[in-house]
Amino acid sequence: MVTNVIAIANQKGGVAKTTTAINLSACLSELGKRVLLVDLDPQGNATSGMGIVKNKLTRCIYDVLINDVPLEQVIMKTEQKGLKVVPARIELAGAEIELVSQSSREAKLRKAIDDVKNDYDFIFIDCPPSLGLLTINALTAATDVIIPIQCEYYALEGLTLLMNTLDRVRKHLNPKLNILGALLTMFDARTNLSIQVVDEVKKYFPQKVFRNIVPRNVRLSEAPSHGKAINTYDSRSRGAEVYRDLAKEVLERV
Ligand code: ADP
Ligand code: MG
Repeated sequence: MVTNVIAIANQKGGVAKTTTAINLSACLSELGKRVLLVDLDPQGNATSGMGIVKNKLTRCIYDVLINDVPLEQVIMKTEQKGLKVVPARIELAGAEIELVSQSSREAKLRKAIDDVKNDYDFIFIDCPPSLGLLTINALTAATDVIIPIQCEYYALEGLTLLMNTLDRVRKHLNPKLNILGALLTMFDARTNLSIQVVDEVKKYFPQKVFRNIVPRNVRLSEAPSHGKAINTYDSRSRGAEVYRDLAKEVLERV
């Protein structure tokens, strides 16, 4: 199996990028896949969400991008068999500026990932809420991108900018970058708004919207504070069911 490197991207904050990165990673590893989750957001929410205590770390993805530390040396085990994590800490925020003066600044992450690629079936990259150099690094390293979209007002706002960025990355850095799918999140079946957003997004991304839609589920929002993915935090929750089904849908698509 070729390694799928999947960036979870949308410059909007709070659309469930990190929730999706963590839980899709965990559910694919549950299916026996070898998965690496790379936290590329200085907030480090994927790191803490997987139970890693950030202030105990001596190194993170920052050192890979800026100090040329091999990615291998930053990879950490998790409680979940088959799932490893590359952590991020707040110092990563500096990389956005420090990268500017480096050569091949857009391809740093791709180069680092190339060295470990063969050890994994899936590598997920949790992007920050911006379209700066960190996200460009993710999109340059990726074979595919998943775009989470929250079922809320202005769901489509900013998507044109994201699409333009994807086009630019394809043109100059990564011609084969594929949109694996748009993922609707925080769906609330009781509201017309949610239903309306689903229709709008399906029009915007014909054939690309995942048939699994993630509903609002309080267990999904609780899990990170316990340092666990949903499948171990509450295996029978609706959130766990949906992300398990989504993992299978991703397997169909790659
Ligand atoms: P992003 O990484 O795009 O900023 P997060 O994954 O951190 O977004 O999600 C934003 C907030 O919404 C978090 O508090 C998260 O726990 C919560 N959340 C995400 N998905 C759901 C869901 N399906 N149901 C309820 N809360 C959710
Ligand atoms: Mg996030």
